[in-house]
Amino acid sequence: METLSTTCVIAGGGPAGMMLGLLLARAGVDVTVLEKHQDFLRDFRGDTVHPSTLQVMHELGYLDEFLKLPHARISRVGIDIGDQQFQFADLSHLPTACKFIAMMPQWDFLDFLAGKAKAFPNFRLLMNTEAKDLIAQGDRIAGLVATGPGGHIQIRAGLTVAADGRRSVLRDKSGLTVKDLGAPFDVLWLRLPFKPGDPVDMVGRLQAGQLFVMLYRGDYWQCALVIPKGGNDAIRAAGLSKFRARLKSIAGFAADRVDEAITDFDQVKLLTVTVNRLEQWARPGLLCIGDAAHAMSPVGGVGINLAVQDAVAAANILGPVLQKGVPKFSDLKKVQRRRDFPTKVIQGFQLLVQNRFLAPTILQSDRTPNPPWFLKLADRYAVLRRIPARFVGMGPRPEHVRLGRK
Ligand SMILES: Cc1cc2nc3c(=O)[nH]c(=O)nc-3n(C[C@H](O)[C@H](O)[C@H](O)COP(=O)(O)OP(=O)(O)OC[C@H]3O[C@@H](n4cnc5c(N)ncnc54)[C@H](O)[C@@H]3O)c2cc1C
Repeated sequence: METLSTTCVIAGGGPAGMMLGLLLARAGVDVTVLEKHQDFLRDFRGDTVHPSTLQVMHELGYLDEFLKLPHARISRVGIDIGDQQFQFADLSHLPTACKFIAMMPQWDFLDFLAGKAKAFPNFRLLMNTEAKDLIAQGDRIAGLVATGPGGHIQIRAGLTVAADGRRSVLRDKSGLTVKDLGAPFDVLWLRLPFKPGDPVDMVGRLQAGQLFVMLYRGDYWQCALVIPKGGNDAIRAAGLSKFRARLKSIAGFAADRVDEAITDFDQVKLLTVTVNRLEQWARPGLLCIGDAAHAMSPVGGVGINLAVQDAVAAANILGPVLQKGVPKFSDLKKVQRRRDFPTKVIQGFQLLVQNRFLAPTILQSDRTPNPPWFLKLADRYAVLRRIPARFVGMGPRPEHVRLGRK
């Protein structure tokens, strides 16, 4: 078996893993990132680059170049309940370099990070390479075993990071305990064409027991239909014409293009929603970050944002240690101490929305709900729209790049 040695090995080239890899590479740490796919292409994944992530790009000096990549901008979020329209969030007052969410294919974001990281000779990206197991040395994790194009490889490292997403293999192998917080719904993702004259803000439509969210993507709408947990099979069994009729009843101005756009269930992708978190994010030699440490509900669309923030915090705390040697278990625990609070606050908010609002008004009822008081207030007083904008756009305890900042 081929054996490699590195200071830090990161399993998973998603937002968490690529950002951590880049930050450590910039600081001169020898770092190896493994990605099991051969490219970053993925449809209907999180494509939201939030103001806090854009702020990180700004602090890294990459923002102008990054914003040259094709993207759409969302600075206001509205919700339609029945035939009433409410303005809910306004990002245009955020104290960040960008006062909008950039909607950009996730592969462009990841390719950009990879391109920057590859400029450093101490950075190695192994595509098509899947982490399979951890290497234990006494009670310490000393690296991982993976399979790549050339067969099995052993990668020995002073720090192993599991950034391999919500179905993390390394987390499972680590024996760390996952706390499942439950989610009563799943999401179906699909695309509808954009037509001249359509609005360009994000639209959420709530009507007769259904919630449909439309994200403006420049030349199309990325749409999410919220369904009860496990409801996908019944929808498919009922047939495409019933599904199209359901979409048309909730798609508002976009109902006129449902028939031509949705011709096969292959165009509809299921997101099985999971909300969970690790009780301990680390073992000696091993740290979990991003979805591997906490799978987020899609409420608020903050999964990428939190994954990037974890990476920045991990780099700030562990980078200076890795420049000199091997982090102690107490160093790894500091990352959880830093990121536990924002994770718990956001998951708490997501559980509140899904259990107190989505479940009774959408998933267990076919009536159009009365608008909640906070929506009425936000619509009436523009200043209040800054609160949800800050919560979603920046999150509690935003991180700033300290390691290797020029
Ligand atoms: C359909 C869908 C829509 C979403 N929409 C949004 C959204 O609009 N906004 C938002 O903020 N969030 C969204 N999310 C959540 C968001 O994508 C995640 O929270 C975020 O990507 C987490 O980043 P991560 O780097 O921790 O994990 P991931 O993005 O899951 O990255 C993990 C990476 O590790 C790789 N990998 C997995 N196992 C291994 C292994 N054993 N070895 C090597 N590599 C491995 C995977 O291929 C992947 O590239 C969505 C998620 C889904 C599934």
